[in-house]
Amino acid sequence: MPIPSPRLPRRAWTAAGAAFALALSFFAAVPASGSGTAAGCQVDYTVNEWSGGYTAQVRVTNTGPALSGWRLTWTYGGDQQVTSAWNATVTQTGRSVSAVNTDWNGALADGGTADFGLQGTWRTADPVPTDFALNGVSCGGDGTSPPTTPPPTTPPPTTPPPTAECGDAAVCEDFEDQTGPVPAGDWKFTAPDCQGTGTAAVDTQIAHSGTRSLRLDGRAGYCNHAFVATTADLSTVGPVLHVRMWVRHTTALPAAHVTFVSMPDSSQGGKALRIGGQNGALQWNRESDDATLPAQSPTGVGLSRPLPTGSWQCLRFAVDTSAPGLDTWLNDEQVPGLHADGVPTQDIDQQWLSRTTPPRPTALRLGWESYGTGDDTLWFDDVVVGSSPVGC
Ligand code: CA
Repeated sequence: MPIPSPRLPRRAWTAAGAAFALALSFFAAVPASGSGTAAGCQVDYTVNEWSGGYTAQVRVTNTGPALSGWRLTWTYGGDQQVTSAWNATVTQTGRSVSAVNTDWNGALADGGTADFGLQGTWRTADPVPTDFALNGVSCGGDGTSPPTTPPPTTPPPTTPPPTAECGDAAVCEDFEDQTGPVPAGDWKFTAPDCQGTGTAAVDTQIAHSGTRSLRLDGRAGYCNHAFVATTADLSTVGPVLHVRMWVRHTTALPAAHVTFVSMPDSSQGGKALRIGGQNGALQWNRESDDATLPAQSPTGVGLSRPLPTGSWQCLRFAVDTSAPGLDTWLNDEQVPGLHADGVPTQDIDQQWLSRTTPPRPTALRLGWESYGTGDDTLWFDDVVVGSSPVGC
């Protein structure tokens, strides 16, 4: 059930987020046993937590001889569960976590650093781990007496900070500064094909936060495509582009193909990477070759989700712009059919991976596009786009 976000000035989120950030650093120069080779590491693990979830930014510094590949391991003391990661492959077995370099950040010179991030969930406790090891060598002294760190004294906030990462987000929009009925300022109406009867407006009756949201009255048919586009240039947001938005639809996703989020994609020559629906369930679609994620087989569609109507829904997605990787969450639940990785999976991303160039979204358009049947009235609010994930 969505929890209304508190009304704060947009810039206040930066300070609010900082209050919940916990940063700890571990350092040691540890001789590797038996070899006489100096080896060591420093790990900065910075947590941003909220009730039930967290993200962690991790910087590992190699203080020993150069490495051509790295594996950072640690043990969680609480019930944290990693759900996604970027710039490293992170796996968890029980409380043991392992992060392995990607193809492009494996080389670590003496003094070199690598950064990666992860997102996860927790229920009862999420203490910062203290037993980091790089390629099997402890970063915390002799591995048996980690540095003394005070326990976090700031309790998790009782409501999620939905826009805690707004500080450096490229887009962080609650539409509250829209003063008229027509989207203005950072948002422009656009009818990319030919303008028909689809309309967009600033709504003061229905909102997820505050008193304003973006309303689209979408109509079926090619000429009725109607979008409101942010003026923000997203072409440098990454390497993983994270988007969080709240959407509210009136009509269930139809059998016919529809789109309600469209992102111009420079890797497709400007054609769009799109989120919408088909066969009654959410789907991704790539305009240049009309590939869909998941495949529109009964099994594929079954691995996606319908979009509930008549209430606000939190939609999040992460688009990797440097490798095949796409993930989607509906109300913080990852949708298995809306997941692409480097391994083709029947009924999910086999067709999607026929194109190997990673997408490069450059802008965000919110609206309605349908090709046959499918009118809908829909709303958008609390939209965040940035290089770090933002929770619901
Ligand atoms: Ca609002």
